[in-house]
Amino acid sequence: MTLKKLALSVAAASALFVVSASAQMPASWTKPTTGFQVIGNIYYVGTEGLSAWLITSSKGHILIDGGMPQNAALVEANIKALGFKLSDVDLILNSHAHFDHAGALAQLKKDTGAVVIASAGDKAALEGGKYIGSETVTAYNFPPVKVDKTVADGETLSVGSNTLKANLTPGHTKGCTSWTTSVKDGSKSYKVIFWCSTSVAANRLAPNPQYPGIVADYQKTFTKLAGMQADVFLAPHPDQMNLAAKRAALGPGKPNPFVDPTELPTVTVRSKADFEAQLSKQQAGS
Ligand SMILES: [Zn+2]
Repeated sequence: MTLKKLALSVAAASALFVVSASAQMPASWTKPTTGFQVIGNIYYVGTEGLSAWLITSSKGHILIDGGMPQNAALVEANIKALGFKLSDVDLILNSHAHFDHAGALAQLKKDTGAVVIASAGDKAALEGGKYIGSETVTAYNFPPVKVDKTVADGETLSVGSNTLKANLTPGHTKGCTSWTTSVKDGSKSYKVIFWCSTSVAANRLAPNPQYPGIVADYQKTFTKLAGMQADVFLAPHPDQMNLAAKRAALGPGKPNPFVDPTELPTVTVRSKADFEAQLSKQQAGS
């Protein structure tokens, strides 16, 4: 075997390894954890490794994300243990249409009777239960969920006293949506972002992009996020926002560790650098 052939076979083997390894999801994604109050009327109701957020009001609640398909029961148990009723969840939103955040939404919709609203860019993926651009990877499929209404960039949705704004931040998925709102905690009010994600993850950027226009979408999204401000940065994966450390630092009389206005700009700069490195690698064919 020539060196070149050897290099090719190693590359092929590692590519196969990536596909099979990606089908094995981290155990933390489906591991239960107790729900808790993050700040004001925002609660964490996800698992140890995948976020789900409940924004409550006396006139109905909003749920953002549900995690893997098998996480629906865990999210529901967390909502109930915090003293809220499933039937009071009126609206379900999604950060982005991937199995690890949208997988449980069909079951959660059925059990709560909530309306599901998503961006037009993610509607087909949600209703098809598919990872757009990786439709043949069956490990990425999830139970399809009907989208009752689509939202455009800048549109707002209200349930009770809560209003959320849809900020389209495409790239990670075509319809990736970062939801923003404000929260009152004590006498203060804070700007909150439920960040969609800008990681490259399993996405192909070049030469055969995951979806047409993906590179330009990521670039526009980094510019948009760099121009936004948030006091509280909440992410779809707890490890993207050091959730465990912040949770451990919560306590009466202490400053809320989830308030950190430096986090969104820091994550945006780091994620953009990672995106550019991965784009160069993929363009070089390595
Ligand atoms: Zn994702």
